[in-house]
Amino acid sequence: MPDSRELISRNVLPEDETAEVSLRPLVLSEYIGQERIKHNLGVYIEAARQRQDAVDHILLSGPPGLGKTTLAHIIANELGVGIRITSGPAIERSGDLVAILTNLEDRDVLFIDEIHRLNHQAEEALYPAMEDFSFDWIAGKGPAARTYRLKLPRFTLVAATTRSGMLTSPLRDRFGIAFRLDFYSVSELFEVVLRSAKILGVSIDGQGAMEIAKRARGTPRIANRLLRRVRDYAQVKGDGTIDRDVACESLASMDIDSEGLDGLDRMILSAIINNYDGGPVGLSTLAACVSEDPGTIEDVYEPYLLQMGFLERTPRGRMATQKAIEYVLGGIPKRKGLFDNP
Ligand code: ADP
Repeated sequence: MPDSRELISRNVLPEDETAEVSLRPLVLSEYIGQERIKHNLGVYIEAARQRQDAVDHILLSGPPGLGKTTLAHIIANELGVGIRITSGPAIERSGDLVAILTNLEDRDVLFIDEIHRLNHQAEEALYPAMEDFSFDWIAGKGPAARTYRLKLPRFTLVAATTRSGMLTSPLRDRFGIAFRLDFYSVSELFEVVLRSAKILGVSIDGQGAMEIAKRARGTPRIANRLLRRVRDYAQVKGDGTIDRDVACESLASMDIDSEGLDGLDRMILSAIINNYDGGPVGLSTLAACVSEDPGTIEDVYEPYLLQMGFLERTPRGRMATQKAIEYVLGGIPKRKGLFDNP
C-alpha cells in the first residue's frame, strides 16, 4: 500500500517526473485557475513580445505542487524562447552561475527553483546580472585579483520559492513582478483531474473526479498523484472505471480522509490537542513529537491545515482550532481546559 506521506510529499517523486511532463499545461489558456496571475502574466508577455524585449524578472511563491515550474515553462513557451532550469542548492559557487548565465540566448528564461536556498556568494553575483545583465568576474586572489565585467544576454529570471519570507530584501526588490500562488478550489482541481484523466486515457465519471479533487489538498500535483493511484486501484479491483465508490475505497485504503487529511496531519493535530492542551507549541517540539522534519511540516503540512482552519500560527507557537478538536476528537475535547465554554 502506498504510504500516505509519500502521496502528499513535497518532493517530486520519480514517477511524477515522467508523468508531470505529459500532464503539464504548455500554454496559459490550458493552465487551470490562478486567474489573476494568468491575466497579468498574459499582459506582460504580450507587451514584451510586441517590444521584442525580455519580460521583467518574476518571483513565484507558494507551497509545492501548485504550478510554479509549470508557469516558468509556459512563460518561455509563450514568449517563444528557451528555458534553462536550475535550483538554489545546485548553484554552489558564483562560477556555476556564470556558466549558466553565459550560455543563455537573448531573452531566454532562466528558472531557479528554491531560490531561498541560494548561497550568499551566488546571490550577490546575481544582483548585477538581474539589474544590468552583467557579471563581475574576479580572477586571481589577493592583491593580484582583477575584476572583469562580462556582458550577458538579456534574460528573464523566473524564480520559485516555498518560503518567500526567507528571501533577503535586496534579492526580493530586484524582481519586477511577484506572484503568490494560492491553493486551488475543489472545482478547479476537478478540472485538473478531468484534464489529466483525458490525457492519460483513464475512464472516470464526475463523482469519481470530485472525490479526488476534494481530497487533493488544494494542490494539482497531489490531484494528479491521487488520480494515478486510484486508476491502479480501479484497474485491479474494479473494471478500470473510476466512479465515486472506487475513488472512496481507494483513497481510504491510502489513509486519506474526506477532508484530504492523512495520518501525519491527524498526528500533528492530535499531538497539539492531547499533549499540549491545544497549544501553543513550538514547531521544533511539534516536529519531534511526530518524528518529522520541521521544514516538511512548515512547507507541506501547515499551509493546508492553516488554510482549512485546523491550525493557527501565533507568536508563541502553533495552536489547534475548535474545528480541529471537533475533527480529531469527534467534538469531545479530551481534556478540560482551553477550549471549554465557561
Ligand atoms: P511547483 O513547481 O509549484 O512545485 P509544478 O509546476 O511542478 O509545481 O506542478 C506540478 C504538476 O501539477 C504539474 O506537472 C502539472 O501537471 C500540474 N499542474 C500544476 N498547476 C496546474 C494548473 N494550473 N493546471 C493544470 N495542471 C497543473
